[in-house]
Amino acid sequence: MRSKIVAGNWKMNKNGTETEALLAELSAKLPDTTAEVMVAPNFVNLAGAVRSLESSTIEVIAQNMHYAESGAFTGEISADMLQNVGVKTVIIGHSERRAYFGETDEILAKKVIAALAKNMRIMFCFGEELEDRKSDNHFNVVASQLKNALYSLEANSWKNIVLAYEPVWAIGTGETASPEQAQEMHAFIRKSITEAYDATIANNVSILYGGSVKPNNAVEIFSKPDVDGGLIGGAALVADDFVAIIKAI
Ligand code: 13P
Repeated sequence: MRSKIVAGNWKMNKNGTETEALLAELSAKLPDTTAEVMVAPNFVNLAGAVRSLESSTIEVIAQNMHYAESGAFTGEISADMLQNVGVKTVIIGHSERRAYFGETDEILAKKVIAALAKNMRIMFCFGEELEDRKSDNHFNVVASQLKNALYSLEANSWKNIVLAYEPVWAIGTGETASPEQAQEMHAFIRKSITEAYDATIANNVSILYGGSVKPNNAVEIFSKPDVDGGLIGGAALVADDFVAIIKAI
């Protein structure tokens, strides 16, 4: 049985004071749920967030990491540094990293290998741009993103992988993929993994949807059989909205 997951990607939002305030409010309001709940604050607030959530079931995860173990990479953070402050899961491949920081499939494949080598869990993000969907190329784009970064992995590594399908045109735009579009793509992703590996791996991997998930559309999106939860941006910055989305799963 695959996990249900609701994760908040806070992106470059919330200073230390604001991080602590949001975590306190979330902890106080967290509903009973069988889903895994995760939050991804910025790097400088990760250690404090882990400490603040010590007795909470909310997991603190990172938004990014470098593939090297250490060295002359000014401004970067390694898997070891994340683990050392108690972070066990890292987001890799977010479309903003791809678009604004030049992260190619090749770089992302290296990051995935580096994180797995440290036994970290990976939340791997991918998704097509609007042009791809308009030209009916979205399935090809997604298949190649998965193949280039993940399909050289050993089957055994997949137990540490969570996928997050985030169509770029739906991120921060208020425009969501319809629940049917999300389901269609998630089913396609499982088929692609079945072809590359097998049906067991495909059925065991959690596939989250991300892109303008809000309290008013979460129930419908999460009701789809191949949608195992959400990666939430803007709505994760407001405790009541994030809580409402957790309740929707
Ligand atoms: P929004 O929910 O703000 O569209 O962001 C989605 C996202 O990019 C999560 O990683």
